[in-house]
Amino acid sequence: MLSIKNLNKTYDNGVKALNDVNLEIPTGLFGLLGPNGAGKSSLMRTIATLQSADSGSITFDGIDVFADPMAIRKTLGYLPQDFNVYPRVTAIDLLDHLAVLKGINNTKERKEIVEGLLAHTNLYQHRLKSVSGYSGGMRQRFGIAQALLGDPKLLIVDEPTAGLDPEERNRFHNLLVSLGEERVVILSTHIVDDVAELCPNMAVLASGSILLQGNPQQLVSQL
Ligand code: ADP
Ligand code: ADP
Repeated sequence: MLSIKNLNKTYDNGVKALNDVNLEIPTGLFGLLGPNGAGKSSLMRTIATLQSADSGSITFDGIDVFADPMAIRKTLGYLPQDFNVYPRVTAIDLLDHLAVLKGINNTKERKEIVEGLLAHTNLYQHRLKSVSGYSGGMRQRFGIAQALLGDPKLLIVDEPTAGLDPEERNRFHNLLVSLGEERVVILSTHIVDDVAELCPNMAVLASGSILLQGNPQQLVSQL
């Protein structure tokens, strides 16, 4: 369970990106829906401890995120919006390298983990290609494989389906649903259908404030 209480953030330029945000996010796929500029990335970056808040608190499974950022980083997978910069090395070599950086030192264990993640994201048959030559959908799935190193219990994906064709989008959706079975997975997006189709729980963010929170059916009946 991820619990966000009274979170506020105003940037140096005076933009109030988060305005008293309160959210309770259980295990499963959670949709954070909002238009561009709503504050979604600000919220995701704050949960990922990449930027600070002015006030409020975030706890995940008992960990106080602001008091103990190292603890949350260990159990967090984060796929940011613009992560598409890859060197020209094969997918398997790149993922193996990232696994080393993640502290997975045992070569045999690492090989199992890396190959397992490539298989799980449907990239095993493309493992010897360079990620810089991947299609948009393949890159997003590689991003997920990368975010899953270290078996995180909290996974954040920010605007993941932008630029994907319908088939790639479907494939990505199925992957997210399976990941939500045993983790908190936050899907941040401006695409209503992504959330309505996939997420048992959701919230709507606009101008830094949570407008609605519940399951999609409940929310539609309130409109
Ligand atoms: P903080 O208050 O968290 O320190 P800053 O205002 O110092 O944030 O900006 C941090 C970074 O975000 C800077 O590198 C800046 O270029 C970038 N940035 C500034 N304005 C925007 C914006 N409107 N949208 C996205 N990024 C921005
Ligand atoms: P979203 O992800 O929903 O598009 P953001 O969190 O990126 O929303 O942005 C929320 C608001 O904060 C926007 O008005 C944006 O321009 C502004 N903003 C985002 N990052 C920064 C930053 N680092 N410095 C100043 N303003 C920012």
